[in-house]
Amino acid sequence: MIPVDKALEIVLAATPTLPAEDAPLAEVVGRVLAEDVASDVDFPPFDRSAMDGYAVRAADAASMPATLLVVGEVRAGQWPDRDVAPGEAVRIMTGAPVPRGASAVQQVEKTRALDGGRRVELLAPVETGQNIARQGSEVRIGDRVLERGQTIDAAAVAVLAAVGKGRLRVGRRPQVAVIVTGDELVDVWTAPGRARIRNSNGPALLAQVREAGGEPIDFGVVPDDRERLAQAVKDAFRADVVVISGGVSEGAYDFVEEVLTRYDVRIAFDKVAIKPGAPLVFGRRGEKLIFGLPGNPVSAQVCFDVFVRAALRRMQGALVCSRPTVEASLDAPLRNRSGRRNHMPVQLRFAGGRFVARPLRSMGSADIVAHARANALAIMDATRLEAAAGETVPVLLLASFLDRDGQ
Ligand code: AMP
Ligand code: MG
Repeated sequence: MIPVDKALEIVLAATPTLPAEDAPLAEVVGRVLAEDVASDVDFPPFDRSAMDGYAVRAADAASMPATLLVVGEVRAGQWPDRDVAPGEAVRIMTGAPVPRGASAVQQVEKTRALDGGRRVELLAPVETGQNIARQGSEVRIGDRVLERGQTIDAAAVAVLAAVGKGRLRVGRRPQVAVIVTGDELVDVWTAPGRARIRNSNGPALLAQVREAGGEPIDFGVVPDDRERLAQAVKDAFRADVVVISGGVSEGAYDFVEEVLTRYDVRIAFDKVAIKPGAPLVFGRRGEKLIFGLPGNPVSAQVCFDVFVRAALRRMQGALVCSRPTVEASLDAPLRNRSGRRNHMPVQLRFAGGRFVARPLRSMGSADIVAHARANALAIMDATRLEAAAGETVPVLLLASFLDRDGQ
């Protein structure tokens, strides 16, 4: 049995970064940026009015009363056709370029139009630069605005659009073959007969592949039969990654390791000190990665999350491959007598200025309903046998945390 950190290190060291590819802007959300992006414009690109109002010379607006001659108007998208001279004002809209000569904008709410708009009275003074966003004050032309290895979210899409990146380089999505093993399994459309259960790992793993940015290939359910498994595994090597559920323990019908060895897969480890989990096979065949996950459904999901997801992110070129961990105080005690690093389902919430984790009742590594109620996993290291209420533990945020805190 090797520790979780060591196993993750082995996986990431063995994981190649796939070659980057071109993609249109409309399709890159969730993918990993494979180039540094520099701005081709200043932000703002010109001295820009931040308000609807009047562009004026600050000297004319320093003391009240002040009444100025309105000599023109400039709208968003227009270039000003005249400068602002002493005693003058130009009506200006938000987003419009500030005319030369003007050094401040007074917002329209603090003015009163006179003579049908030919003159304007300022109702409050303005200072030099007020309500003007200066050219290049946010970003200068040539500045790096996004970095290779970051995951593209909507905020990054805004930046890409603003700097004219209609096409860009992103990490290729790894293809991931998912093979599920087990004589007991029936599909979602079938009523399970006696001694049968529905295959929940297959759909869950396919979903996890998608969430991690991979392209899943569904190999369906394979019975606990050496030759059938061997055939499926052989076909699956066309993918970048092969994920197999079940058949990795010591049972009489657990054939995964044997079959992998037959195809010259170099097995790096087959047991990790993780709970839920433990039997967990990782191997390589050339540039391909092979994961044999435990069949127990929560074990399969957690082991995927900790190891396979990290590998899929690394393949796409992501700099950050694991989910974030925060310190949270427990509102009920936890015990860990497993001798392994234990990942326990909790509901995490932010309350009273800190993260608080409420342990959920779980019957263990088959309890997918408890797992689905969790938005985070409390981590108890192998050597930590107990944590009392009020003590802090590291808590691994699950994808659901961002959409649902535990209030
Ligand atoms: P295994 O690792 O194949 O020994 O399976 C361990 C446990 O997980 C057994 O109770 C299996 O019935 C269950 N299991 C295995 N595969 C699946 C699956 N695809 N969906 C739901 N449960 C499964
Ligand atoms: Mg099985």
